[in-house]
This record gives sequence, structure tokens and C-alpha cells, in this order.
Amino acid sequence: MALIVQKFGGTSVADPERIRAVAEHVAFTKRHGNDVVVVVSAMGKSTDNLIKLANDVSSTQPAREMDMLLTTGERISMALVCMALADLGIEAVSFTGSQVGIITDTVHTKAKILEVKGDRAREALAQGKVCVVAGFQGVSTEREITTLGRGGSDTTAVALAAALNADSCEIYTDVTGVFSADPRIVPQARKLQHINFDEMLEMAGAGSKVLALRSVEFARNHNVPIQVRSSFTWEPGTWVVQEDPSMEQAIVSGVTHETAEAKVTISRVPDEPGVAARLFRRLADSEINVDMIVQNVSTDGHTDISFTVPEVDLTRTLQVAEEIATSVGASGVAADPDIARVSIVGAGMRTNPGVAATMFEVLANEGVNIEMISTSTIRTSCVVRAGDVERAAQALHSAFGLDAS
Ligand code: ADP
Ligand code: ASP
Ligand code: MG
Repeated sequence: MALIVQKFGGTSVADPERIRAVAEHVAFTKRHGNDVVVVVSAMGKSTDNLIKLANDVSSTQPAREMDMLLTTGERISMALVCMALADLGIEAVSFTGSQVGIITDTVHTKAKILEVKGDRAREALAQGKVCVVAGFQGVSTEREITTLGRGGSDTTAVALAAALNADSCEIYTDVTGVFSADPRIVPQARKLQHINFDEMLEMAGAGSKVLALRSVEFARNHNVPIQVRSSFTWEPGTWVVQEDPSMEQAIVSGVTHETAEAKVTISRVPDEPGVAARLFRRLADSEINVDMIVQNVSTDGHTDISFTVPEVDLTRTLQVAEEIATSVGASGVAADPDIARVSIVGAGMRTNPGVAATMFEVLANEGVNIEMISTSTIRTSCVVRAGDVERAAQALHSAFGLDAS
């Protein structure tokens, strides 16, 4: 008997019919002799709606209360899925993240999972029940309810699969797998049969939200194979797995884009040791993930520092940047939310020089100006104007031979 974790995203449980369709699929899996743990997201856009509600009520939004609010979305889904399963004659029991023992750190709204106990899930499975868990949430070491950051239900699913030693982890969503680019932006994108953890990690880090970044980190660290597939067609999807020597090492496997970032520039910073250290330590202590950093060549003892951060963190970033700018005597801080990042990812980039150069040529031919560049061994990213990013992604997708024939 296999143990299968099945995670259903927001669109997969968006309305009563979808919930009943999910229950049918879970019942089918169970009746074929498998143990099933289901992880659910909030219905449709309900997390967005809860955030809007908070915006309408409050400008301070204490993070603890945000988490109390946002975790309700997944709680609705888990109860409804259990009810739909009951109608099909399947015994099921729902658990919040806290009940199932997802223990996190104390960073509200983007908590990290420290440990998964999973006792109640094991007990339910031993009684022959389907176990339905609310995604995206846990309980902190200080016994407070936490959330895992947007898209965090993926992480709940992979973490539970690892803790329960599941045979597979299926992530059901509204596309049929991981594509060579976001099919909504690049219609000629191809579905990948498989992709390795390192490439998927870079794609998730570079803005492909088909899998949350932390879920891929978890999968890689615990070697949990993931299948990303559609809850609308139920066809076989994309396997995200550890490197298989027979797997083709594409030079470029995918193109990703990210528009939810902003650029911050501190100008005329005195060029002396310790300024960057203070700035980025303060940002890190505020739980702000800085992505790209560029420091210009110093002229007359002053330099400009630019960096990118998630747009949601822009207000807090500006507070920190302005404090530091004042204290070191820099001339000012400017924010530019109108940027986007386009990236190419591929394991074969390790051994093929010239890939970055080709990327820059393609962007030049499109008349797209590059404002910042960053690279890893298997990724090259460029910051461009937000208005150029779709054209850039499509041109790169074609130029690297990824278009579906
Ligand atoms: P869910 O609610 O099921 O978690 P998400 O909206 O978080 O779904 O993720 C699925 C979406 O990810 C797709 O609708 C698609 O637009 C987007 N996406 C971005 N990049 C890719 C990619 N490379 N392959 C597939 N989907 C992608
Ligand atoms: N409901 C949460 C979100 O919208 C978590 C998830 O769907 O994975 O971000
Ligand atoms: Mg998601």
C-alpha cells in the first residue's frame, strides 16, 4: 500500500463543484488501496480577499492577527473537502497545521517550518481515514498560529510527505505541469517531462510561482519527488526529481519572469567600509529578502547602491534605507517599483560558455535595456522595465529554441 500526499491549490477548490471533483479524485485514489493525505489551499482568491479586508480595516495590521485571519481560508477548504468525502462514503478527518504538528519559527506571515510531528495524521491513517490538512500554516515555538508565506501550501505538502515518508507528493494546480515558461505569458511554452531540483529551485527563486521556493528546498533536502499536475484534466504532469544521469542537460530549460519586485537606490553613499554591512544587516534583521545588489564605481569618495526587494516589503525597506542614508550622510533614497526580472535557467549552462552573452544580445535586439544583472552557475537574470518583460521572455524563449513546434 502506498502513501500519497495530494495538494490542491486555490483554483482546484474554488467552488462547490471543484471541491466535489477533488473529493472524487481522492476517493478514487483511496479505493485503489492507497493511504491519502490531502493538503488544501484556501478557495479561489480568498486569501487575496482576506488581505483586502485587512487593508480596508487597518493600516497597521499586526502580523500575529494577519496570520489569525489568513489561516481561516484553508480551514474552510479542509472542512468542506472532508464533507464532500463523507458524501462519497470515505471516512476523512481534517486538521489545522497546528493540530498536525507543523512547528515553525516565530516570524509571522513568513514562518519557516522547523519540524513536522505528524502524529495525528499517522493515527488517522492507521484508522483507515483520509487525512485532510490545512496548508500554509503552522504553530510557532511560542505557540502562536503562523503562516508560511504566499504559496505556502506547497511547502506544507512537501514537508508532510517528507515527515510521513510518503511514496509520492502530487501538487494539483490549474496547469498541466511545469512549463518552459509561464504559459500565460509565453503561449508557445512547452510542458517539461521532468526537471531536476536545482533547476526548479532557480526557477522558483526567479519568480515561477508554480511551486513555492521553500517547497522545492524541502523536496531537495529530503529527496521527495514531486509531480506537478492538473486537477482539471488529471493527466500525468511534470516530475521534479533529483538529477538522473540519463536526463538531458538542456542548456536552457526555462525562462521565468517576476514583476512583483522593486528597485531601491541610495545615492552618494560615502565609500567607506561598513556601510553596506549595516544596511543589509538591518534589512536581513527585518526579514526582507534582498535579491540583486549593484554598487557603482566610486567617484570622489561617493558611490550609489541599488538593490531589489519584493514589492510587498518596499515600505519597510524604505524606512530602513532612509534611516541608514541619514546616519551615513548619503544624499537620498529613491524607489522604483516599475521594474521586472527576466531569467534563463538551465543545468547545461554550467558547461556552456556564452549563454549569458546570447541572452544580452537577444534583449539588445528587442531594444530592451538591461538595468541590473545577476548570475548563478545555472541561471542568468536581468532587471528590465516592467513594460518590457513579457516581450523579453517571449524573445528569449524563442531564441533558446524552447518554443513548442
Ligand atoms: P495554485 O493555486 O494551484 O497553487 P499557482 O497560481 O500558485 O496555483 O501556480 C500555478 C500558476 O503558475 C499557473 O497558473 C501559471 O500561470 C504559473 N506559472 C508560472 N510559471 C510557470 C511555469 N514555468 N510552468 C507552469 N506554470 C507556471
Ligand atoms: N492560500 C495561500 C495563498 O494564496 C497559500 C497557498 O495557496 O498556497 O498564498
Ligand atoms: Mg501556488
